[in-house]
Amino acid sequence: MAFKLPDLPYAYNALEPHVDARTMEIHHGKHHKAYTDNLNKAIEGKPEDQMAIEDIIKNINNYPVAIRNNGGGYWNHCMFWEIMSPNGGGIPGGDLAAAIDASFGTFDKMKEEFNAAATTRFGSGWAWLCKMADSSLKICSTANQDNPLMPIEGHCGGTPILCLDVWEHAYYLNYQNRRPDYIEAWWNVVNWEEVTRRFKS
Ligand code: MN
Repeated sequence: MAFKLPDLPYAYNALEPHVDARTMEIHHGKHHKAYTDNLNKAIEGKPEDQMAIEDIIKNINNYPVAIRNNGGGYWNHCMFWEIMSPNGGGIPGGDLAAAIDASFGTFDKMKEEFNAAATTRFGSGWAWLCKMADSSLKICSTANQDNPLMPIEGHCGGTPILCLDVWEHAYYLNYQNRRPDYIEAWWNVVNWEEVTRRFKS
């Protein structure tokens, strides 16, 4: 099969108490696996079987909805696992901190805007912090499994460096309808080292 479900870079219970083990197990082992399997089914025997996922996503308007939803779901979750870590949280330093201050004023103002994007995304979707072509930062949110690499009106159109899954499957077992509580807790597991790596690359 073309695309493989990546192993989690930490144990299912590693993000507790902020993200519980059962949620991580189902999210990775069932949801992300299903996006991966369904993407592979949708491209079976087609040229996309040999393509990089980014090249499919950047031209997503050329593809049927099964590739859009499952390709987006595949790529988004691959990124999501990496930008979290058991020893995460705090605030970034260096060039990323300077870029956050330049674009938003302060880290807290960036966080406030990101939280608003994540909280007000109606239904299922994602919030994103993106690096623009001029190295400034922007926040946006997307519906379903869309992401800012997809050429879609209304998204910031940058390269994602931080993302948050606000589908109910990401938090419902532990937080039920309290999406804002999940969002606030999630900041404690953000892997700023990985976000910084993405900002610099
Ligand atoms: Mn998800």
